[in-house]
Amino acid sequence: MAKKLNITRRDFMNGVAMSLTAGTALSPFELLAMNHQSSTDALYPPELIGMRGSHPGSFEVAHALARNGARWTEPTDQTDRDYDLVIVGGGISGLSAAYLYKQRHGKDSRILILDNHDDFGGHAKRNEFTVDGKQLICYGGSQSIADPSSWSPVGKKLLKDVGIHTERFYDYFDRNYFKDRKLGRGLYFSRDQYGKDYVSDNILGTEIKDNEQEIIDLINTYPIAETSKTALIKLLSQTENYLLGMGSQEDKINLLRQTSYSDFLRKYVNVSEEVVLLYRDMSR
Ligand SMILES: Cc1cc2nc3c(=O)[nH]c(=O)nc-3n(C[C@H](O)[C@H](O)[C@H](O)COP(=O)(O)OP(=O)(O)OC[C@H]3O[C@@H](n4cnc5c(N)ncnc54)[C@H](O)[C@@H]3O)c2cc1C
Repeated sequence: MAKKLNITRRDFMNGVAMSLTAGTALSPFELLAMNHQSSTDALYPPELIGMRGSHPGSFEVAHALARNGARWTEPTDQTDRDYDLVIVGGGISGLSAAYLYKQRHGKDSRILILDNHDDFGGHAKRNEFTVDGKQLICYGGSQSIADPSSWSPVGKKLLKDVGIHTERFYDYFDRNYFKDRKLGRGLYFSRDQYGKDYVSDNILGTEIKDNEQEIIDLINTYPIAETSKTALIKLLSQTENYLLGMGSQEDKINLLRQTSYSDFLRKYVNVSEEVVLLYRDMSR
């Protein structure tokens, strides 16, 4: 049997693993904040700035494995604990899974959450700033919970249980911010790609029906080939069934499940690569 190592506490910040073990009433974030307060030198990712994403330390092992075929020997030592549940990924899905598991199997459940990043939250992390002595909390990635009313009863209960009051969003978010300042989504054509720097309204997701001429005039200002402009106008104005005669409804759904939007545009709408790239790069 493998020898046990005496590791009593895994440190998420300085290592890559965090254990949510029984007996602590504090959330991982509270533990993290305490750690931060007790040592000003401690790495505290919510305060780090700049483009972080997959930071150094998070991808090297996977790259070595996938690109260089690196292999490692099986460990001979076992950690100090056995776990009831091991979760790979400390984003909202992994954290929710841990929370729901504890609810179902009791607070004494031993759960190990592994993450290859220095902070939990995945694509929905938080940033902290101190401005004039006041701590401000901002989002690092995901901005707000999209469409919480459509969540399943389990999801809604989870939000309530962890103390997230979605209705407070309206107290803090200025929904007219862009409208009041006459700001909108833009489409940027770069000099490198299109010969000149040009910014225009982004019409790619709009319906052409009501303001057809306005949109056509706008497309005609885009620094793209005439054939691409024509294809774009046609794409936005016609409600053509591009999969006509291509099998049953089920066949079409299966086909679309396996087809990216770029490939759909290429193969079935037959637009130029320039139009495909515009759609690929548009902001969503
Ligand atoms: C810029 C941005 C803005 C967004 N805005 C919104 C928004 O406003 N509203 C909204 O509702 N949604 C938004 N989303 C989507 C939302 O953030 C995600 O759907 C959600 O966070 C996904 O959670 P997840 O736990 O499923 O996955 P992730 O958050 O991706 O979590 C996966 C976790 O697994 C870890 N991981 C991955 N591979 C490994 C590995 N090999 N070993 C160990 N750990 C690993 C990652 O580090 C990560 O922590 C946004 C996403 C982005 C990127």
